[in-house]
Amino acid sequence: MFGGLRLAPHKEAADAPMRRIEAVESLQVSMLQHSGRPARPVVQVGDRVRRGDLLGAAADVRSAPVHAPIDAVVEAIVEQPSWLPSADAILHVHLRRTDSAGAPRCLAPLGECTDAEALRERVREAGIVGLGGAGFPTADKLGGDRSVLILNGVECEPHIACDDRLLREDARAVLGGGRWLARICGAQQVLIAVEDSMHAAIDALRAVLADFPGITLRVVPDRYPQGGERQLIATLCGVEVPADGLPRDVGILVANVATAAATHAAIERGEPLTRRWVSVSGDAVAAPGVFEVPIGLPVAELVAAAGGYTADAVHLLLGGSMMGTALPDDAAPIGKLHNAVTVLRARAGSTAPALPCIRCGACADACPVRLLPQQLHAFSRAEDDGRLQAQGLFACIECGCCDPVCPSGIPLTAQFRQAKQRIQLEAVQRVQADTARQRHELRQQRLLETEALRAERREARRQQVTDPIQAALARARAKAAGEREPPA
Ligand code: SF4
Ligand code: SF4
Repeated sequence: MFGGLRLAPHKEAADAPMRRIEAVESLQVSMLQHSGRPARPVVQVGDRVRRGDLLGAAADVRSAPVHAPIDAVVEAIVEQPSWLPSADAILHVHLRRTDSAGAPRCLAPLGECTDAEALRERVREAGIVGLGGAGFPTADKLGGDRSVLILNGVECEPHIACDDRLLREDARAVLGGGRWLARICGAQQVLIAVEDSMHAAIDALRAVLADFPGITLRVVPDRYPQGGERQLIATLCGVEVPADGLPRDVGILVANVATAAATHAAIERGEPLTRRWVSVSGDAVAAPGVFEVPIGLPVAELVAAAGGYTADAVHLLLGGSMMGTALPDDAAPIGKLHNAVTVLRARAGSTAPALPCIRCGACADACPVRLLPQQLHAFSRAEDDGRLQAQGLFACIECGCCDPVCPSGIPLTAQFRQAKQRIQLEAVQRVQADTARQRHELRQQRLLETEALRAERREARRQQVTDPIQAALARARAKAAGEREPPA
């Protein structure tokens, strides 16, 4: 991998066994827990649901259904913040636990003889999305043939440790799911990738790999952001995915290990995706750990399960310490693509004002996408959108590698994120303005046509009125002329 950083791993959360959170009283289940269009609620306030029942139906193939994580009654369906860059507010179904209504609602397990399209349909029905953080609906991602499948266990971002723990505790589910994913996409070669620092996970995989012929373990250097799809493909396959392309364009599928485990559960046990593993970590949380939680659990309850905040807690992030989203409070619910909650103390120097760029080039050396962050910085300050885009702004993966190496302390990543949002917002506003202008022009055209039609009708009516008068006058004139003529 080009560039990147070697960071302190802070994987304390992986040291203790996973803890399962069951006893929850209420959940807030978002209809948008994936990239693409939100799911459409199919329940109403007052409905009783069983765990596994459908709460929201997929809006289209780029969407994903959402299922109830507990036996509950629907208390409310309200709009609230999504905590995703793609949407500000989104519908959430609020559930309040009821007495058990019996066994969870599952789909029928599928067997070895099931064809690839039926398996893919199962992945869609179960609401499986990429659990590594990107949240692409997995069934959509599985479309088209691939030659290589990479199971991504490279959890390179500091503080995130749920995949590490999953591999230690349930490597069989990951490898079993990987086998199903390979069947669906037709991959001949299956690799499972982990970092060289994940010793316990490597041992757990080696202990069961013999039962999964055709799957090869590959250990990659512990360097951030080695777990990015493009970086991993370059390291393992020596192939560069084009900046404007996708891994499918080079015949490769990358799936997170938790996605593989969820696929295994959906196919072999018929379980829809209603729970996920989340790490709670950072230097300002009392007892870091990995938890299996129902989707929709508020962050506050998750942090409480990890012993709560320390007195000096300042930063609360949904995600890891490099790419996580800062939260204003802990009311946000966990969604399918949230793999971590990180709580940190104040960071030294984080409030110092930025100094001018000295063009040292350290940011370019650290950028894994081979961008020139100093150029992007200059163009974003000038709001020169044309040159920003020409310099590859939208290829920036917001990994944050350019920030800690900058001697001037310039918050480069935040600048690039804001520039992208501004350009995207302006593009949306332009489309809206164009649509409004077209609607106005069409209305004007309709008004003109209506007016012309009315004028035509008025003229026709006038003709109908005046013509008999003209005819009567003509007859009178003819008659008068006849009377004046002498008899022959
Ligand atoms: S690291 Fe900072 S100071 Fe150096 S070139 Fe990049 S933006 Fe400028
Ligand atoms: S945040 Fe963007 S510009 Fe900075 S190192 Fe990462 S990819 Fe490069």
